Amino acid sequence: MPLDIPGATHLHSGKVRDLYELADGNLLMVASDRISAYDFSLEPGIPDKGEILTRMSLWWFDQLADLVPNHVVSTDVPESVRGRALVVERLDMFPVECVVRGYLTGSGLEDYRATGEVCGVRLPAGLVDGDRLPEPIFTPATKAAIGEHDENVSFEAVVDTIGREHAERLRELSLAVYARAESVARERGIVLADTKLELGRRPDGTIVLGDEVLTPDSSRFWPADSYAPGRAQASFDKQYVRDWLTQESGWDRRGEEPPPRLPDEVVERTRARYVQAYEQLTGRTF
Ligand code: ATP
Ligand code: MG
Repeated sequence: MPLDIPGATHLHSGKVRDLYELADGNLLMVASDRISAYDFSLEPGIPDKGEILTRMSLWWFDQLADLVPNHVVSTDVPESVRGRALVVERLDMFPVECVVRGYLTGSGLEDYRATGEVCGVRLPAGLVDGDRLPEPIFTPATKAAIGEHDENVSFEAVVDTIGREHAERLRELSLAVYARAESVARERGIVLADTKLELGRRPDGTIVLGDEVLTPDSSRFWPADSYAPGRAQASFDKQYVRDWLTQESGWDRRGEEPPPRLPDEVVERTRARYVQAYEQLTGRTF
């Protein structure tokens, strides 16, 4: 699966991205066109998805630069991954997925239904799927091994892992990033329901935003014009894929079989959604 990139040594492959080390010690983060739904990696990929998400992430890093420094060093990357890779500085990553939720859905909703809380944060009674929370909450998770789901943990569990000072700093930065991004997205007709950030440290101790930020792969984007709590919300990017898989393809989501190959039309419409998300958010043309 990893590419043969001159001057780069493969370190790691996730569901969607591949990580390489460069000779100068920096890292090369490469976004592929792979797409997943219902925990399956689908075939084929979505043309340009890697490039669109890379551009989106870069744009957000700029929007957030006054709140937190980021790991981007350069967009000058090997020809074979042009447009969909970034050179980033290697950070000592905190072993915490910094999740902020402004709306209740997904694993947050499941935990709330079971306990009335998410990550130890007590919420008002009677909330339904998609409800906006009284205020955004920090709901950290620990990184799971490949194929497993991340596990929601309490703030105190993060304190036990990285110390109180760092835990409080991560929470503060994460909430600030979400608040900024949520308002930017809202002005542009997109509800940012939640987001996952990863932060790390430079050798001098500076806390820096790493990974990708505020892409549909790390965040839930909902079209504001169809938002209505009390049911599952439409996904800005993946709704065509989900609808086709569950309603038209004949595939049984709960069965043993992997999903069928996406037809050209679904691929094309999904590509158009990624382009639209990018253009609507940034005001730029892809
Ligand atoms: P998934 O597909 O579920 O996200 P994954 O997290 O293992 O799986 P990727 O997200 O592709 O796969 O992996 C990127 C890895 O790079 C993560 O472990 C992330 O913490 C790490 N990372 C991101 N930015 C930096 C950085 N600047 N320095 C060091 N590691 C980083
Ligand atoms: Mg990841």
